[in-house]
Amino acid sequence: MTATAPLAHPDAPRAATEFFARTGGDPLTDAFPPKRAAHPATGARPVPPEAVEALWHEIHARPRSDASVAYLHVPFCETHCLFCGFYQNPWREEAGAPYVDALLMQLERGAETPAQQGQPLRAVYLGGGTPTALATADLVRLIEGVRRHLPLAPDCEITLEGRILSFGLDKARAAFDAGVNRVSLGVQSFDQRLRRRLGRRAGRAEAARFLEGLAALDRGAIVIDLMFGLPDQTPESFAADVELAAGLGLDGIDLYALNLIPGTPLLVAQEKGKLTPAPREQLGQFYRAGAEAMDRTGWRWLSCSHWRQGTRERNIYNFEAKSGAHCLAFGAGAGGNLGGTGFRILPRLADYLDRAGSGGCLTTGMMQAGPLAPALSALRAGMERGRLDPLPVSQALGTDFAAVAAPLLDQWCEAGLMRPNHRFMDLTLAGRFWQVTLTGHLIQWLIQEVPRLRAAPG
Ligand code: SF4
Repeated sequence: MTATAPLAHPDAPRAATEFFARTGGDPLTDAFPPKRAAHPATGARPVPPEAVEALWHEIHARPRSDASVAYLHVPFCETHCLFCGFYQNPWREEAGAPYVDALLMQLERGAETPAQQGQPLRAVYLGGGTPTALATADLVRLIEGVRRHLPLAPDCEITLEGRILSFGLDKARAAFDAGVNRVSLGVQSFDQRLRRRLGRRAGRAEAARFLEGLAALDRGAIVIDLMFGLPDQTPESFAADVELAAGLGLDGIDLYALNLIPGTPLLVAQEKGKLTPAPREQLGQFYRAGAEAMDRTGWRWLSCSHWRQGTRERNIYNFEAKSGAHCLAFGAGAGGNLGGTGFRILPRLADYLDRAGSGGCLTTGMMQAGPLAPALSALRAGMERGRLDPLPVSQALGTDFAAVAAPLLDQWCEAGLMRPNHRFMDLTLAGRFWQVTLTGHLIQWLIQEVPRLRAAPG
């Protein structure tokens, strides 16, 4: 038998010092232990399984108001990208049409519900997986179905996500004609060797040429993702990638760190000693190199991980989803949120195909938001934008957020992660790099401190 140290009670209050950043070094690299994928606490509670079906019908019968978006999931991938933990099903051409049929049935049945008929949607995101793998005719049917069955605001952002492989300018033109006004592509890297290792079949020149052609269509915002911390990448090679991307006429670029997700081919390859991602401690240097390259080329940051050039890119879906907007969800594995109830549509393809048009419950598990959810959404929204506004957080909390969070905010200012700017708290470059960590810490602190304050006498 092995003796173990007693575990701290999960609800035991943590001292403010446990959330403090290290001082004295470079805050970008030293403020906290190396970055890992993190899902900060939210205070949400699982709905008992026996209550799920009734709650599904209840939330769909409630008229929807306030900011809203929709997410449609296409759960097929042409290859399993090395770094990805979201791979669901291999793409097979014959699977596309029946899947779109099922999505259209779900959209059509849902159109009878008050939840779907409510407030016009600010954004729709066709994500995956790889929606661009769908045949042109299916893609067009799907987009037309979205426009027919969902109440879209006149300026609704409609994003089509995908990959360069098997997209092509003709399919892109058809998607724009059908109503898409934003295309988001996971490029990850322009480095030829890296692209091959990541499972990206289009080479560097081919990828760059295609993106230039897509932007030259001048039909909507073109946005790409670039990843840092990949095997054999250096901050300098990443900056070169960013500069290349910055010159292609695109509208948005997302820079994000590689997360080593359990079960991904990349982590397996690393464990076998076949691939070595950049050391976690170096990720801050990559971020700085990327941010400086964006700055040099005249791009402006829109959020901590997203930059834009020109006037087209709005990034509405991402902002709204992170700000707690209602999210209607369609497709196997799609995540949704209605009035603070989170759910995931049946992820098994066969189950979804079977039940999409039934009008019945399409989930097996739900989470109910905690009482602080509106305040946490306001907090997340500000942190994501790199400028925390205490006012909406205080209004949602019913108490002075700046006073509750002062021990953390003051120390983070001292550590070079934040600085006061009028009533706001701005994140510095280092603060933007550590944004997810800082947000997670603030959320934990509020979940712990606000109930204590409310319970305190007087
Ligand atoms: S990155 Fe996208 S295309 Fe690649 S495996 Fe993941 S979900 Fe599929």
